[in-house]
Amino acid sequence: MNRTYIFWKDAYSRSQPAVIKKIVPEEGIILEETLFYPTSGGQPGDSGLIKFNDQVTSISEAKKTYNGDILLVPEFFPSQLAIGMHGVQEINWELRYKYMKMHTALHLLSVVIPLPVTGGQIGAVKSRLDFSMPDPIENKQKIEDEINYLIQKNLYVEQLWITELELDQTPNLVKTMSVAPPRGRGDIRLVKISSRDCQVDLQPCGGTHVKGTGEIKSITVGKIEKKGKNNRRVNIHF
Ligand SMILES: [Zn+2]
Repeated sequence: MNRTYIFWKDAYSRSQPAVIKKIVPEEGIILEETLFYPTSGGQPGDSGLIKFNDQVTSISEAKKTYNGDILLVPEFFPSQLAIGMHGVQEINWELRYKYMKMHTALHLLSVVIPLPVTGGQIGAVKSRLDFSMPDPIENKQKIEDEINYLIQKNLYVEQLWITELELDQTPNLVKTMSVAPPRGRGDIRLVKISSRDCQVDLQPCGGTHVKGTGEIKSITVGKIEKKGKNNRRVNIHF
C-alpha cells in the first residue's frame, strides 16, 4: 500500500498545495499528492474543490484507480488545465469530519458486538454495520450505553503497519468477512484503538478516523434490521 496518502499521514488536513500529475479527458484529474479520500471500505469519497490560478473547480467525488492513483471527478470539466500546473486543493471538511467520527464509532460498534462483520456503510448522519448475527439483540440500550462509555473514555486511535506475512500469522485480526484487506501491495494498515493500559480494537482498515474517541461526543443506536437468515443490520446516528 502507498503509505504516503495525505489522508493517512494527517486525516485532519483540509487544504494542501496541488500539482496536476495527469488529466483523464472527460473523467477527472490526478494530482501528484491528493488530500481527497477515495470512495472505499464503505466510506464515501471526499468532495471539495481545487483552484488553479483564478479557476475554481468543484470536485464531486474521488475514486481510486487500478494503480492506486486517486481520480478527482469535477462537476464540470475545467478548461485550460495542464500537467505540472500548481494550485490548491481543499476538501469539504465539515462532511469529512462527520465521516471520520462515524467511521471511528463503527469500530466501537464492532467492539461492543464482537461478531463477524459482513458489510457496512458510512454516512454523515446515519451509518451501519451488518453482522453475521442469527439471534436478535435483547437489549439495544445496552449496546448504545457501551459505545458511549468507550467514546467518553476518549481512547487513542492510531495507525500501525504490518506485513502480509504478519497478518497471515494472526488471522483473527480480520473482522470484516466481506472486505478482506487488499493483497499484493506490500504492507497492511491497521487501526488500533486503545487506552493507556488496554487495547480495545485492532483491525485492518484504510479509512479516516478521529484521533481520540471523545471527539465523537455520543451516538444513538437506531433500527436493528433482520437481513436474511443469519444477518442483522445495526444502524447508528449522531
Ligand atoms: Zn476504520
